[in-house]
Amino acid sequence: MAVLADPLRLVVGDKAAKRLAAALDLHTVGDLLGYYPRRYDKRGELTDLAGLRDGDHVTVQAEVASGSVRRMRNRSGSIFEAVVTDGHGKLTLTFFGRGAQDWRQRELQPGTRGLFSGQVSSFRGKRQLTHPDYELLGEGSSGARAAEFAAELIPVYPATSQLASWKIADSVRIALDVLDVPDDPLPASVRARHGLAGYADALRGIHRPVDDTDYRRARTRLKWDEAFTLQVLLAQRRLAAAKYSAIPRPPVPDGLAAAFDAALPFELTVGQQLAGATIADDLRRDHPMHRLLQGEVGSGKTVIALRAMLQVIDAAGQAVLLAPTEVLAQQHYRSIAAMLGPLAMAGQLGGVEHATRLTLLTGSLGAAARRRALLEAASGEAGIVVGTHALLEDRVQFADLGLVVIDEQHRFGVEQRDALRDKAGDGRPHMLVMTATPIPRTVAMTVFGDLDVSTLTELPVGRSPISTHVVPVAERPRYVTRTWERIREEVARGRQAYVVCPRIGGDGPDEDATDLQDGEARAPVAVLDLSAELSAGPLAGLRLSVLHGRLPAEEKEKAMLAFADGLVDVLVTTTVVEVGVDVPNATVMVVMDADRFGVSQLHQLRGRVGRGGEPGLCLLVTEAPEGGPARERLEAVASIADGFALSRIDLEQRREGDVLGTAQAGRKSSLKLLQLLRDEDLIGAAREEAVELVHADPALAGQPGLAAAVRALVDAEQTAFLEKA
Ligand code: ADP
Ligand code: MG
Repeated sequence: MAVLADPLRLVVGDKAAKRLAAALDLHTVGDLLGYYPRRYDKRGELTDLAGLRDGDHVTVQAEVASGSVRRMRNRSGSIFEAVVTDGHGKLTLTFFGRGAQDWRQRELQPGTRGLFSGQVSSFRGKRQLTHPDYELLGEGSSGARAAEFAAELIPVYPATSQLASWKIADSVRIALDVLDVPDDPLPASVRARHGLAGYADALRGIHRPVDDTDYRRARTRLKWDEAFTLQVLLAQRRLAAAKYSAIPRPPVPDGLAAAFDAALPFELTVGQQLAGATIADDLRRDHPMHRLLQGEVGSGKTVIALRAMLQVIDAAGQAVLLAPTEVLAQQHYRSIAAMLGPLAMAGQLGGVEHATRLTLLTGSLGAAARRRALLEAASGEAGIVVGTHALLEDRVQFADLGLVVIDEQHRFGVEQRDALRDKAGDGRPHMLVMTATPIPRTVAMTVFGDLDVSTLTELPVGRSPISTHVVPVAERPRYVTRTWERIREEVARGRQAYVVCPRIGGDGPDEDATDLQDGEARAPVAVLDLSAELSAGPLAGLRLSVLHGRLPAEEKEKAMLAFADGLVDVLVTTTVVEVGVDVPNATVMVVMDADRFGVSQLHQLRGRVGRGGEPGLCLLVTEAPEGGPARERLEAVASIADGFALSRIDLEQRREGDVLGTAQAGRKSSLKLLQLLRDEDLIGAAREEAVELVHADPALAGQPGLAAAVRALVDAEQTAFLEKA
């Protein structure tokens, strides 16, 4: 008998174990049994050969149609060619050999069926597999495959050139035969309540299903493992976090927060009031707040965060606001300074009594300014410190850090949150994470499962709608001309425009570029090229400026400021403008090669226009062909205004690992079957069960199988983190 933790060598022998390790990085019985089939072929059902593409590693079920041996012209030896068919299409199998190939010809008689595995290539217009591995199926077939014939379904594994699918299946069969699972990771009560199969049964069912029902049942059970293990881990983390203490920062009646509220030039939306009250309440507790505040661009998150910061300052604490980019940090710094006015002018002329101080700390500060900023943070003079990753450095110290606000969570990892957390002296700071990328509920439960969530669903009144249109270059070249005319018209009315490109261009490294795809006809539109073309052509006479990641920080700052001050009509830029930038006078955004951007990213981008009273216009320029998936994504962005709906589309189109982000890479590899959107109900149910269990038995003392699974998940996350670091 063997358990999941046993090395494969003990079960499948040295040779097979070495192959599995080298080709697929599988080392234990558990690794192997966790390598699930990609699909199941129905016995006797031939694979559609029309779908094969050059370069694919394939395993096909087909029937031999003919075979012939040729002598090689210039060398000794011969070529045996067999043509196999699915009844319509054909595929040539080519074998080179030194001696006679009679035996091969005998084996691959016309009418014989088999599984053939290899890499697809083309030769003289014909699809072929050169030296494929094969296993014959049918009466004549020998030994090992006989078992396969008892079953209706043949598992097909994601194979590699080094290891054919059925060789993996052979090892799996051996492992399953000796497998012993003494401790099922899912508690018996959970299995009973949800009618789930036992673990060993499920592993048999997914690798060697007798029929469809069999493997569906296995899948459901194994999805539960993924969801439940993760939710147990998150529940444990929440429980552990709740044990930490934080300094309570209750609101005071006549402090800065109250003065700020009294001076607000607008009414808070109902959503803002609710989120604000919840946060105010969190802050008065002696446990750290862990809250995610999500809401569309412009929904007024910053105002809420600022109120929370002031409440903490009123209670003698300090707050930091961590932004993902330098541009955004500076923008926050400026807009917070403007919103606070005299409230943040401690020691300055015009500052109110008890005023606090606002400090900026970024990587690009000069030595003297940096020293001053560090001092203000450490002495407690600075009530609010706004900055970038520079804030995470060791030498940044605070007198009494009470609140950490993180803008745009998706760009920060858990480990960065922790780095800031450690800067609070006794206890832990309260933590507020803001994101404008709406996150579907299940993703929030999975990725941010240790955070409470507040959502701003409405935009402040008076916000104008943004109309979005696709500009198809190929079919409607006229529209492109019209695009530039629209910009001229808006500028003539005193408005401003953004033109966003996927690439910087010029000679330097293109760190702002969206990924280049293989076999592309042309490089994506670049900021430097396009701005030159536009100022020489369609936008001649307008004041153009460029902004991109390769500019030194002060240049970026200057470009942003000039645009914000209306000294520039058109800003040609990469996505460095994506987050947070606020220029209410900008009314048009043109996105070049829009198909290169993600759905949520486009939604974020267009949130930059229409922020004043004027309606916004967003034009998505693309060469993506009509009816194709890229074009459909753009049409979706154009027709759907709701960021949450778009985020679901985004999730459907991207691999989930991308959604989970690199910081959660371990989590990605642990989600093999679970689909965050489709399995919403299952995830919800698993979460409920997990919470109940962890509260009753926090250390999982009564669940050794589950405890081991959770440990394995933690290890995977740590390994992924270390590999990244
Ligand atoms: P977010 O951070 O969610 O993108 P901000 O907090 O930056 O949004 O708000 C965007 C703009 O809307 C700011 O200029 C802000 O002053 C303004 N604003 C915020 N809340 C309201 C409101 N309730 N009514 C009117 N304007 C608001
Ligand atoms: Mg913002």
